[in-house]
Amino acid sequence: MSRPLFFPHGARIAVLTQEVVGVLDYLAPEGGVRLGQLVVVPLGPRRVMGAVWGTGMGDFDMAKLRPVARLVDAPPLSPEMIEFLERMAEYTLTPLPSMLRMATRAPDLDQPPQARRIIHRAGPPPARMTDAREAVLRVIDDHGGAGFAPAELAQLAGVSGSVVQGLVKAGTLAEVLAPRDLPYPRLDPDLPGKPLAADQAEAAEQLRAALRTRRYGTTLLRGVTGSGKTEVYLEAVAECLRQGRQALVLLPEIALSAEFLARVEARFGAQPGEWHSGITRSERRRLWMMSATHHVGMVVGARSALFLPFADLGLIIVDEEHDGSYKQEDVVFYSARDMAVLRASIGGAQVVLASATPSVESWVNAAAGKYARVDLRARYGSAELPEMGTIDLRAAEMEKGRWISPRLAEEIRARKARGEQSLLFLNRRGYAPITACRACGQQVGCDQCDARMVEHRFQNRLVCHQCGATKPIPTACPACGVEGKMVAVGPGVERLAEEVAERFPDARASVLSSDLFGSARALKEAIAEIGAGETDIIIGTQLVAKGHNFPRLTLVGVIDADLGLQGADLRAAERSFQLMRQVAGRAGREGGGARGLALLQTHQPDHPVIRAILSGQDEAFWDAEAAARQSAGMPPFGRLAGIILSHPDQPVVEDYARAMAQRSGPLQAIGAELFGPAPAPIARIRGRVRVRMLVRAPRQAPVQSAIRDWLALAPKPPTNLRLSVDIDPQSF
Ligand code: ADP
Ligand code: ZN
Repeated sequence: MSRPLFFPHGARIAVLTQEVVGVLDYLAPEGGVRLGQLVVVPLGPRRVMGAVWGTGMGDFDMAKLRPVARLVDAPPLSPEMIEFLERMAEYTLTPLPSMLRMATRAPDLDQPPQARRIIHRAGPPPARMTDAREAVLRVIDDHGGAGFAPAELAQLAGVSGSVVQGLVKAGTLAEVLAPRDLPYPRLDPDLPGKPLAADQAEAAEQLRAALRTRRYGTTLLRGVTGSGKTEVYLEAVAECLRQGRQALVLLPEIALSAEFLARVEARFGAQPGEWHSGITRSERRRLWMMSATHHVGMVVGARSALFLPFADLGLIIVDEEHDGSYKQEDVVFYSARDMAVLRASIGGAQVVLASATPSVESWVNAAAGKYARVDLRARYGSAELPEMGTIDLRAAEMEKGRWISPRLAEEIRARKARGEQSLLFLNRRGYAPITACRACGQQVGCDQCDARMVEHRFQNRLVCHQCGATKPIPTACPACGVEGKMVAVGPGVERLAEEVAERFPDARASVLSSDLFGSARALKEAIAEIGAGETDIIIGTQLVAKGHNFPRLTLVGVIDADLGLQGADLRAAERSFQLMRQVAGRAGREGGGARGLALLQTHQPDHPVIRAILSGQDEAFWDAEAAARQSAGMPPFGRLAGIILSHPDQPVVEDYARAMAQRSGPLQAIGAELFGPAPAPIARIRGRVRVRMLVRAPRQAPVQSAIRDWLALAPKPPTNLRLSVDIDPQSF
């Protein structure tokens, strides 16, 4: 990028506010400023943070410029980072300030790095316990006893600072002075790793060779669950560390498991930096600073870790690359997998996309030679893939109000007798998906959303899964008023747990569903207990499909394999294939034990997705999916963008969308088609009516600039209208 690195006079600064789109000019401080330097600038009466972005060198009217207020004492953003943010802004049609916010999401960046007071757990609970004190201790314990700034701790616990000080006086907590921003312990790539099997060694060597080029490249690392992909990509991390570069491993958030961190520690002698919503503010700042100054070698994180200011990022691993949680659909709409590829291509880094069930996009890119491909063909060691079968629900003799078929129940009983575990998978949180009136048939919906209310029996309330609103479970029908006729229809995991308790009274059961755990730590504990064999029957939502190792698990029962097969969505087949393959892969992961068994309960045993799962012909399935996408001109063969408009009033948003659609000349000019306006996949959320238009364009067409031109032609939006652009939407 040919952009000057130093600005002696005036500087163009990207300002971190919602309202300002783009960049403003300021007078550089005495001595000039560097590109990427974080600064505080005046904006009207306020002071806001910004970053030096570039300059016109001399075409400023110096007399009119306000001076930069001060420099922020933090490392400047690198030229690669600036280019990354700019290109991502272009690609996702996001205003630059929103991008800059992603890259500076660490608190207190503009505070000096002094020693600071840290509170940590030091002794037994106080003699006098109060609710407020308990809240403080809960926060500390949920973070493994880790340190907090006093004010932060009080805020997280929702108490005043004096409660924290009281606990210090009582000796339960202690306060120490700690230097800020300590470097992370060095990882040692040369500790002996596990001896690799032949195909693993070959795969690891291919990844190492790619790293040695010190150039950009992406590799799809494919292998069934349990084939040893993690061991292989840790060898790529080792090579990257040997080169003195930094490595980033992205995991779907829930899988930032203690297990993974322990594996890293076993391999490299120390833990990596961790970045996700559960870390403290001080850890957040520390990791940001240390990644910029190269004092952390390896970071494990959720998708937003991609925006850390690494000094020299050499490798990005995207584990479970097909996972839907890599797509953010809020403020900045982006796919962390795709943006990882963009970031690596700018910084000369390698990307490894690891999955047992790659996305059709990555599959096609590998087939076309855009990505290299490495396959692990078998499970590691003596572990075999599970045997697969269906249970035809049309023929099964199901009792009323029961969801576990006689055959599945029998298999569970046999596992229990042998001291093995069973997993029942049902991707539905709560007790029952529908609450309906038996007198009039009315179903209870959310007042604010186009969604049913879902009964959660542990909370004893109905909950909207769109907006989180809750209401009491009604005794009388809200529509016809008849008393005592409200019934729960269909199963959720809580109801399944009830059936398990009734039918297997001497089995120890545990339910894994995201809403049942108050904290990440509680969930981690539950997972550790299951791993230690303290459970006979696990009942779970898609939470259990991801990356956990349960050595004694030998049976997986998919309660409703038809869930998700019917959607009008072109991606429905791919998604349910991935989910079922993933969850079935939980069975029999360790060698030596009995071979695993996965049983799918279905009304459609002949459905192509079910047949593909049973036959194990995954490649044929992806090829067929890819062919279907190609003939429909859908991604990755064509380009797709969604425009979502929302407003409290239906006619207002519909009229506006139609007016936009009438001026779609710039789209036609690039050969794109416009579909809609039509109701969005969820037509109303939090009282706002949502309408969607879809743009489909040929693969090489300049979709972003055409959309920008189209949006510029749109009439003045009514007040309170919201518009968001989703390039490469997840559902179509
Ligand atoms: P994947 O990431 O493909 O699901 P993992 O890397 O987690 O597979 O490996 C599955 C299991 O096999 C893990 O328990 C792992 O520790 C073990 N394993 C894999 N490779 C080796 C090896 N070379 N030596 C010893 N154990 C291994
Ligand atoms: Zn709602």
